[in-house]
Amino acid sequence: MTEKSREITLEGIILRKVPFKETSMILDIFTNELGIIPVMAKGIRKEKSKNTGLIELLNELDLVLYKNPSSDWYIYKSAALTKAHLFEVDFKTGVLMQAAAEIYRQLIIPGEDAEKLYELFLKYLQFIPQVKKNGIAIFWRFLLRLFRLIGIEFNSTTCINCGNKGNFIAYFPQKHGFICKKCFRPVYDDLVFKISGEQAELFSNINHIGNMLDEIEISEENINQLNRIFLTHLSEHFHKKFHLKSLDIYKV
Ligand SMILES: [Zn+2]
Repeated sequence: MTEKSREITLEGIILRKVPFKETSMILDIFTNELGIIPVMAKGIRKEKSKNTGLIELLNELDLVLYKNPSSDWYIYKSAALTKAHLFEVDFKTGVLMQAAAEIYRQLIIPGEDAEKLYELFLKYLQFIPQVKKNGIAIFWRFLLRLFRLIGIEFNSTTCINCGNKGNFIAYFPQKHGFICKKCFRPVYDDLVFKISGEQAELFSNINHIGNMLDEIEISEENINQLNRIFLTHLSEHFHKKFHLKSLDIYKV
């Protein structure tokens, strides 16, 4: 980031764009140095030719902004496109990219975490178009990595009670982990999400699932249950509901 008078240059990815008044646009931009910032792009819809294709969702940009000294807002001055991540990707790939963007939009990202979360997001955006099958599993792997980076580790390999590997029978939201067959008690029934053997297997494999994508089949029921558990984990930690609109339309 360089600052020339009040001018700031930095890298960013557009996470949200909302039309404002006749010709302007309000943007949420995830930047590598400041986390997510609100940017006002005045008159940007007026200068159509100059900005065509520039201000699109998930575009990666080199930005020139002004900081409004009297408010939290940044003012858009110009940008150069590095990569339009959603351009010409297939429907499912686009959905999986937008799901990650939706997660970031709902997080509060402190400045000191911005750089590593930016790097994780960028790697994910670059990798997901190369995945031909079971892309959702790469989204789950992204979530595990994200949880680790923001300090809300999700133990997907050992039982929260005995510490043994595998044989999970349920997810325990309040304890942020899984409980095995041996440790499970009927009194937990109302507190947990029961999971099937297949779902337990998926969870224990997510860290190295990149090598298995071509061999496995993941049913819609399993996708819904794993999504539900990941989102519950986020909700438990941040005490607010996480919902991903994009995943509602993701089908096997
Ligand atoms: Zn156990």
